This record gives sequence, C-alpha cells and structure tokens, in this order.
Amino acid sequence: MSLARRRFDTLVIGAGGAGLRAALSLAEAEATVAVVSKVFPTRSHTVAAQGGINAALANVLPDNWHWHMYDTIKGSDYLGDQDAIEYMCRSAAHLVYELEHAGVPFSRLDDGRIYQRPFGGQSQDFGGAQAARTCAAADRTGHAILHTLYQQNIRARSHFFDEYFAIDLIRDAQGVILGALVLDIESGEPMLIEAKTTLLATGGAGQLFRTNTNAHINTGDGLAMALRAGIPLQDMEFFQFHPTGIAGKGMLISEGARGEGGYLLNSEGERFMERYAPHAKDLASRDVVSRAIYTEVKQGRGCGTHKDHVLLKLDHLPEALIASRLPGIRQMAITFLGIDPTSAPIPVYPTAHYTMGGIPTNRHGQVVVPVGQGEEAIPGLYAVGECACVSVHGANRLGGNSLLDIVVFGRAAGQQIIDYLKENRFHRPLDEASLAQAMAHLQRWDQRGEGESVAALRAELQQTMQEYCGVFRSAAVLGEGLEKVRAIKARLAGVRLRDHGKIFNTARIEAMELENLVDLGLATVNSALARQESRGAHSRIDYPERDDVHWLKHSLFYLEGERMDFKPVRMKPLSVASFPPKPRVY
Ligand SMILES: Cc1cc2nc3c(=O)[nH]c(=O)nc-3n(C[C@H](O)[C@H](O)[C@H](O)COP(=O)(O)OP(=O)(O)OC[C@H]3O[C@@H](n4cnc5c(N)ncnc54)[C@H](O)[C@@H]3O)c2cc1C
Repeated sequence: MSLARRRFDTLVIGAGGAGLRAALSLAEAEATVAVVSKVFPTRSHTVAAQGGINAALANVLPDNWHWHMYDTIKGSDYLGDQDAIEYMCRSAAHLVYELEHAGVPFSRLDDGRIYQRPFGGQSQDFGGAQAARTCAAADRTGHAILHTLYQQNIRARSHFFDEYFAIDLIRDAQGVILGALVLDIESGEPMLIEAKTTLLATGGAGQLFRTNTNAHINTGDGLAMALRAGIPLQDMEFFQFHPTGIAGKGMLISEGARGEGGYLLNSEGERFMERYAPHAKDLASRDVVSRAIYTEVKQGRGCGTHKDHVLLKLDHLPEALIASRLPGIRQMAITFLGIDPTSAPIPVYPTAHYTMGGIPTNRHGQVVVPVGQGEEAIPGLYAVGECACVSVHGANRLGGNSLLDIVVFGRAAGQQIIDYLKENRFHRPLDEASLAQAMAHLQRWDQRGEGESVAALRAELQQTMQEYCGVFRSAAVLGEGLEKVRAIKARLAGVRLRDHGKIFNTARIEAMELENLVDLGLATVNSALARQESRGAHSRIDYPERDDVHWLKHSLFYLEGERMDFKPVRMKPLSVASFPPKPRVY
C-alpha cells in the first residue's frame, strides 16, 4: 500500500469549536496548521449547541467572574481543578467579546449590549439569587460560533483535510508524539501527517449510550487513540445526563427553555422540582434535575400511557418570546413530536449528553501523565474541548460552560504550542515501528468479514451502557455490565464488514468507531465501579453519600490490564482563596 506523507508544524485533529479556536491562534502566528476532520468542519457537534456560552458580563443582572468560579466549583461537586476554573472564568468576558468581534451574531438587549439568560446552577454573590450569565445567539449559539471560527480559519489560511479519519497517534521510543496516521474517507487511502505538535480536539463520546443528544459521529475517537497510546483517561465515571431530552428519542431541549421561564410537571400537575431543590427549583444543576425526573417516574408519577416521562411546560410564555429566543426548540418539538410548545407541553426524559471525563491535561492544554509522585507533560501532545479533562467540569458540568471551555482552552493550547514551536524548530525522525503498528491496526480491518454486523453490536453496546451504567448505579449492576462490555469486545474481532463481497471504506470506519466506543465503555464502567461514593453525575445507590475523606480525587483508567489509578484534585486557585468542599444544595 502506498503511503502519502505530509508535514506541518501542528496537526489539529478535530474541527469543532475547540480545534478551530486553537488552529486560529496558530495560523495567525504563521505556524503551518493541518486541521483534520472526519466530517466537513461545520458539521462538527459544536454546531448543535443551543443555549449559550457563560461569561460574567453583568449585562442583565449583577455578576462577576468570582461568582462564576464559585458556581462552577460547586457544580463540579468540588472535583474540578480550581486553578483551571479560575483561569476559565476570568478569561470568559474577553473571549466572548473576541467572538463578538469575529462575527458571532449574539442576541441583543434593547440598548445593543449582549443579551444574557439565566441557566442552571448560576448564582449571584456565592450562592445567592439566580444569576443571568449565558450569552446566546437565540437557541443556535454553537452554530453561530462554529461558522464564525471556520470563516476566520479560512481567512487565516489553516489547511483543512475534510473527511479524513484519524486512526492512531505516531510516537517514538521516548514517547514523543510525531503526528498521526489518517485515512482519506473518499479514496480509502491512508496518509501520514507528521507534525512537531499534535492537538486532539475530537469531542465527546455520547454515542456510548442508546438515548443521547449527540451526533452520530461522537464516538470519542481521540480518547480511544490516547488509551491505545498508553495514556490514561481521567474521571470517565462522570457522564452527564441532560434532564430534558425529547422523551423516547433523546434529542436535546436546551436548558435555555427553563432559563426563559419553562418548568417541569409530573402526572399530578405538580412542579416537583420545588421538593428537590427548593431554592433553584427547575434551574438546579443538571445531575440534580435528572435524578429528580428519574425518581418521579420510578415512583409512578410519570406522564403518558406508559407513565415514562415528565412534561416541560412552555405554553404560558408569550409566543413572541418563544419565536425570538427559542425558535429552534419550537421547530424540533414540531418536527419530532408534532407538538407546538406554544400550545402544549413537551414530553421529556433524561438523555446522555456530555463526557466530563477525558484525556488529562493542565490549563495550557498539555496532556499530562503521572510520573513518580508528580506528573509530566507528554512532549508534543495536547488535548482540548470535550475530549480533554482539564478539569473544569469535575463531576458535573454547568450548562453554558462547555462552549466557554472550548474557546478558552483552545486559545490557551494554541499559545502554548506557539511557545513550544519556538524551542522545537525541527521535525524529529519518524519512528517506523510506531507507523507500522498503526498501519497494522488499519489493515486488521481489511481481513475481517463474516460474523455479526457492526450496527447490531454497536446497538448492543449502547443498550448495555444505558442499562448497566445509567443515572443510578450499584456494584452488582456495574459488575454485570462490565462482563457484558468485555464480551462485546471479544466479539468485535469477528464482525462482518463485507457487503456484496466487498469491504466498503465506510464499513471500516464504522468498525473502528465501534472499536473506540468499546474501549471507552470499559473505561467508563471500570471507573464507575471503582468510585465508591456519589458525587455529581455519578450516583451509587450502594454509596449514596459524597465521601471527601476517601474520594476527593481524580480517577485514571489505563487500558492495559484495565488498571485504575488516582491523583489529587488541584484545590489551589491561581490568585484567590480556594473554595473548600461543603454540602451541595440548590
Ligand atoms: C445538542 C447539544 C447541545 C449543546 N448545547 C450547549 C450549549 O448551549 N452550551 C454549552 O456550553 N455546551 C453545549 N453543548 C456541549 C458543547 O457543544 C460541546 O461540548 C462542544 O461543542 C464540543 O466541542 P469540541 O470542539 O470539543 O468537539 P466537537 O464539536 O464535537 O468536534 C469534534 C471534531 O472532531 C472530529 N473528529 C472526531 N473524531 C475524529 C477522527 N477519528 N478523525 C478525524 N476527525 C475526528 C469531528 O469531525 C469534529 O470536527 C451541547 C452539546 C450538544 C450535543
């Protein structure tokens, strides 16, 4: 097989908001940048973000970054690293204005300033009254941000490899990352991209679960590539279930719907969130609202014939407000349910949404691994966005903080790479053994052929994760789930790729995506089994309390031997006093 080879200063894998923000800094600094994406850049999942991006602009209600920092730490159930959280919240206003100046058409107040809506977990004055911190472009904020960043990258001359699938990282014997092997999806030809620095920005892994809000492509490829390169994944037990997915289908109804005044009802017509979160009610943190819905349904107060969902009521809001602030939500309810939310409530149920865990990094986007008592950055390797765990979201992410995360740490990684490139001016020699290993990985999928279908096995994995590693967990159920995921991994080798005697390229890619998902399933279930406490999105019925004495630490999962390790949470912020853990009530 012939192998095309290209060389760049930087290889960015992923063209969502995180990858594009980093690429923009690099291209503007005149580094040569290759951006690889398995779909056309503006189809990346960032495009689907609805509700908005957080920054304490104080345009609608009083606010400041320190309150935002407090809310984020509390939202994270104290597992977030406080240095990274301070850095993110302090940078937020600057980054939002930068996006505005780059062309993002934010919704406006009458006086022309950026409109801000209240979102879950936001407070004034360290836990006081509700804040309004989320800047939005109607309910299509991600669409506006992604298109703007793409256009800016075209202007700055980033080099795009659209519809190329990254397979594996290439590294040398010292562990330095040298680039990646990628596959041109159209031609089926592999290509080697050599780079002095490689940035993973491949997004989340929502496709691990049957009911999810994510795009079909969100299979966590970058996380699995890191695992295969011997890098551990951090905090994988924390997967966010968003409270308001369209019941039975999973598509997202943004928290913006509750931010604009919508609320939840059970079959008795009761606003049940008042019982679970007397203060914040429907705008409590996502983990809290999801558990409340699940509990209502389990206790028989679900709505509909099967009593299997609750209702999100918006029909009391003025039609003009829905038209201007939530047009996409209204359209989705009409398209997928035949319900117009201006006249009837929307059936909703929790749906898998966001990967809090990921590739461990510091706040400069460098991938860090434990060495001795401390940790060290892997030379030449960076990760940002949903595939990374920096960790600003800890055990539970607040709505509006992920779009912020991707632009803040996208820019930070870009700046760090520029510094690295000044010191490391030459490409290192290619490691042929590592390349041969990656090629062998690809070629394994040329020979398989006769067993069960990839689609059927993927559906089985998603069903298993949903049933055995969902909103509420226990050792017995997780243990069974682990055996099932291991069995699915064993069956992978025999999957059928041939169709009418041929192996289509798309079949190889679907198989590799499934292979990635299976390893992330192992990471998630092993980490969930290890953590014997309930914190944020991880809720163990056999360990219902948070346990700061034993578990105020990050978990690390290594693929080899399915091994677990742990590391401390960085409790020390950069310039202010730290926020010590206290009981988390909303
Ligand atoms: C429906 C929905 C609504 C949301 N709403 C909000 C919101 O209102 N506010 C908020 O803060 N957050 C929101 N989020 C979360 C937020 O949008 C995401 O966390 C964030 O956009 C992720 O950005 P990213 O750049 O890390 O990844 P993505 O945007 O997912 O991009 C990943 C990129 O990696 C590429 N890629 C992946 N694998 C490969 C591979 N093997 N080879 C080559 N390329 C690859 C893809 O092609 C893509 O370009 C929402 C998420 C969803 C699903």
